[in-house]
Amino acid sequence: MAILYPLQNDDPKPLQPTGEFAHANFPESAHAVDFECPPGTAVVAADDGEIIFVKDDAPSDEAVTPQEYLNAKARGEEKQLFAERTNLIGIRHHDDTYTEYIHLSQGSSSVKLGDKVRKGQVIATTALSGVMDKPHLHFNRFKVVEDDSGKRAESIPFEMVHTAREQVEEVLENLW
Ligand SMILES: [Zn+2]
Repeated sequence: MAILYPLQNDDPKPLQPTGEFAHANFPESAHAVDFECPPGTAVVAADDGEIIFVKDDAPSDEAVTPQEYLNAKARGEEKQLFAERTNLIGIRHHDDTYTEYIHLSQGSSSVKLGDKVRKGQVIATTALSGVMDKPHLHFNRFKVVEDDSGKRAESIPFEMVHTAREQVEEVLENLW
């Protein structure tokens, strides 16, 4: 089943990072997509679900440059940098898949841990937080797998066919 395009604008512009930051380099985000969008764009839940992670205390205008991230990584401090400067929300869906939304505005989250959300519900807005060189929303769908090394996220492909407006139009059409 297709999930909803997670931004409240009608202009999906997928950006795929390349080189060291290519999503494909990371099993947990191999199928992630970055959608270019201006800071302040409303983010919506891609499907019904429950909020399982909310962090929105990082500044909205202090993006981490890729070089800054690499420098921190060389010192083994990239996790700390990520924790201090990234805002994100995670949702668990009925089919035991998860979606995550990264690069959100400070204090913009309109949901809290445990909240039930509906597909299309606004959950936050985007900002210059986290590692980026261009404003965007990082969107990823994943499942949790368990093996000898413990639990980990494994990114899964998704089908995303509707913008929010198209979705509304389709619903309206189907009413008649
Ligand atoms: Zn990304």
